[in-house]
Amino acid sequence: MMAWLWRLYLVLGIALTAAYYLLPSESAGLFVWSIIGWSSVIAIIVGIAVNRPDLRVAWYLLAAGVAMQVIGDNLYNYRTIVQHLDVANPSYIDLAYLPMYPLVIGGVALLVRRRTSGRDRSSLIDVGIITASLGLLTWVLLIGPYIHSMHIGAPERLISIAYPIGDIALVATATRLAVGGGRRTTAFWLLTASIIPMVGADTLYSYLSLVGVYPEHSFIEAGWIAFYIGWGAAALHPSMRALSTPTPSSARISTVRLLVLGSAALVPPAVLFTQGALGQAPDTISIALAGTVLLVLVLIRTARVAQHAAAERSEARFRTLIDKTSDAIVVIDGKGRIRYHTSSTERMLGRSASELEGTSLSELLAEDDARRLVVLLTSDTVSTTLGWRIQHADGRWREVEVTADDLRAASDVGGIVFTMRDVTDRNRFDLEFRRQTLHDSLTGLANRKQFIVRVAQTLTSGKRSDRPVAVLFVNLDDFKMVNDSLGHAAGDTLLIAVAARLTTVARSGCRVARLGGDEFGLLLENGHADGGPKLAAVRVQAALQPPFLVTGKQISVRASIGIAVGSPWTHSADNLLRDANLAMSFAKQMGKDRFELFLPAMHEKATRRLDVAAELLGGIERNELTVHYQPIIDVSNGHIVGAEALARWQHPTLGLLLPKDFIPIAETTGLIGALDRWVLNEACRQTNEWKNADVVDESFHVNVNLSAVHLRDPSVVETVNAALNASGLDAQALVLEVNESALIEDHDSSRASLDSIKEVGVRVAVDNFGIGYSSFAHLIKFPIDFIKISKSFIDHVNTTEGATMVRALVDLAHSLGHNAIAEGVEHLDQARAIELLDCDFVQGNLFAEALSPSDIAVLLVNQFVAIGSAGSPQLRWPQPDPYAQRA
Ligand code: C2E
Ligand code: CA
Repeated sequence: MMAWLWRLYLVLGIALTAAYYLLPSESAGLFVWSIIGWSSVIAIIVGIAVNRPDLRVAWYLLAAGVAMQVIGDNLYNYRTIVQHLDVANPSYIDLAYLPMYPLVIGGVALLVRRRTSGRDRSSLIDVGIITASLGLLTWVLLIGPYIHSMHIGAPERLISIAYPIGDIALVATATRLAVGGGRRTTAFWLLTASIIPMVGADTLYSYLSLVGVYPEHSFIEAGWIAFYIGWGAAALHPSMRALSTPTPSSARISTVRLLVLGSAALVPPAVLFTQGALGQAPDTISIALAGTVLLVLVLIRTARVAQHAAAERSEARFRTLIDKTSDAIVVIDGKGRIRYHTSSTERMLGRSASELEGTSLSELLAEDDARRLVVLLTSDTVSTTLGWRIQHADGRWREVEVTADDLRAASDVGGIVFTMRDVTDRNRFDLEFRRQTLHDSLTGLANRKQFIVRVAQTLTSGKRSDRPVAVLFVNLDDFKMVNDSLGHAAGDTLLIAVAARLTTVARSGCRVARLGGDEFGLLLENGHADGGPKLAAVRVQAALQPPFLVTGKQISVRASIGIAVGSPWTHSADNLLRDANLAMSFAKQMGKDRFELFLPAMHEKATRRLDVAAELLGGIERNELTVHYQPIIDVSNGHIVGAEALARWQHPTLGLLLPKDFIPIAETTGLIGALDRWVLNEACRQTNEWKNADVVDESFHVNVNLSAVHLRDPSVVETVNAALNASGLDAQALVLEVNESALIEDHDSSRASLDSIKEVGVRVAVDNFGIGYSSFAHLIKFPIDFIKISKSFIDHVNTTEGATMVRALVDLAHSLGHNAIAEGVEHLDQARAIELLDCDFVQGNLFAEALSPSDIAVLLVNQFVAIGSAGSPQLRWPQPDPYAQRA
């Protein structure tokens, strides 16, 4: 704005200068001089109005000082030119001139004070050096001669000394302005440079007046004109505002300054030399004094320069160090603007130094963090640690860990220091790590660890709402078979698909996790909501109902589900999960594909089972085991052709235990070999005894179960041979029952064992046939004599589909040359249906339960007696009543 004004004024000044020298001295002195002087005052005032500097008072002081000088000039010119009178010394005109010094010096001093932030001792010393040398010159040239002058009186002498002293003071202040910190703008140069010709003119004027040869209307006046025009232009220049902007002073010492200071220090010897050369008496005392002052100042200054250089070096080292750290350091001022930053900040934020310098830090922060920064700026927290989101130049947000230290009160920092560490990658890594440790890598569901944490959290939050929490423990039935028959990859695919189905079951407030292997967990945050956990279990079953398609094969998946409901007052997460797990094992025992709600009694049973396991070996050794026999009947004539040997344990305190109470435990604890061996020996012994006593005829066979675990053990062949040898039983009278699943699981070794057993003449029956996954191809590889059709088919033999199914199994057995045995026949109509399906043999509670040796012996002796008895005219065999027999 109005940037041309100062130029216009300069042009006008040059024109006025020309006019001054071209016009005759009287009119020039009276009019042009006045115009030049007052134009300067007006220019300064206009400059203040137009440029509006912060520190107006300084400029008004300058204007006032110039005005006093102009008034002095006007009075002087009026007296000499108009009144043609000499100016007395001292005169009233000095009253106008002399106040100019304090006014102008005051104005410049104010500017100096505002420009310099912090103390600047070095500049002060520099000012001292220059002032001392100029002082010596002024003393030698002006003050000394005035003092020593014999022609003038004391008041005149005093006034005459006041001018050079004022000039020295002005030069000193101006030098302070010149050497101090702050921007060196055009206005700065105009203001400081104009003082030189003015002081020069003053000095020359005083000196020439002293020697009495002052020429009027000469080049000397140009010095004052330059001062008037220079200051007017300085005030009009827009950069005059920057004169009062505070800036830290630069610690460096420039070559020019070094030269100036050096020359200043040489003034005393130069004066000494000149006075000597001119034949004057040297001003020894003043020269010695000035020399000493200068020497001391120069010494101090040199020391400071050296100190500074060391400080600068260490600062440079420090700066390199902090720039090398990956932490970014930013210092902001009280208004939140960035005043300092390390180059690591530029790297961290992808922003250049110029983009950062002076920028408000909050502009880079996420909204919330920016708000927190405002709070920090207004509070007086000394040190604090924060987490911020700060924006990179590419637009992405970086997460930073920030330490803030409020050093606004510390003069060497004067701001808040933020040390920021970029933790974006670390946070991302943490998150991923947490995700991995809390998730199942195969299905992506929460893992057991996270599930337990969730259950615990839900229990805790349930404390407030007082609602129960339910856990469903889902275990896939016979998953091992899928893995074994189709491979692990297929097993994995199936698990992923199951996980996906279970997720569809999970509604809000329900969470699914994979607890391991083929086990999944469901957490119902409100055990009462949505029809409760039982309905959730039904939904799980329904979700698994449609067959899964894995590697082109349709697989149907069933699950056993245990449910446990608890409240924070009764359960911990671990307890709840353990209860659900226990309920699940009961569901398995109860025949799989079902759910069971946990009951405290299950605990007792489970504990009992553990006790049982511990006692089993002792039980075998103490002969607590017995064998019961269940007859196998020929459908065609109703004759008992054989019996299945079934283990029983007459427990001293628990009473008679059934195989389900101890066989699974025996299988997992490795006792099954001993148990099977014992039963085998006992069954062979008993059967041979019956044969010898003619209780049964030669064709009678005893069926003995062989555990899959045992079958895998190569010693099984030896065990069988030993039992036959010890009992003397004919191998033909022994049938070994092997579960269908045992054949699939360890195909090669079971086959080898069975082959060896067959060689001796022992026959083999496939137990529980139909429910496993054995294919026809599988079946023909094994040396089999009987196929025992699982009870689960017999249960449905009355239905059309059930009958078709049993018929297919019977036909399959026959086509392979095996006999079919229907297991678990409980009802008469089942027996009738089986008869129509050409099944060879039957076994079941309808005919007889597993009976003690003495009980079955009665049946065996009387087996023909029952034929034709009541109840079923179609049947050619009776319904035996073992209890009636026993009684
Ligand atoms: P399994 O081989 O399927 O034996 C038949 C089971 O069905 C026997 O149960 C028998 O009592 C039962 N049963 C027979 N007819 C009916 C019926 O009409 N209705 C019902 N509900 N059940 C009937 P038990 O004696 O409890 O034996 C269970 C299982 O324990 C046997 O199943 C067999 O796998 C195993 N087991 C029994 N004794 C031994 C043994 O000495 N060694 C081995 N390794 N396992 C044995
Ligand atoms: Ca069996």
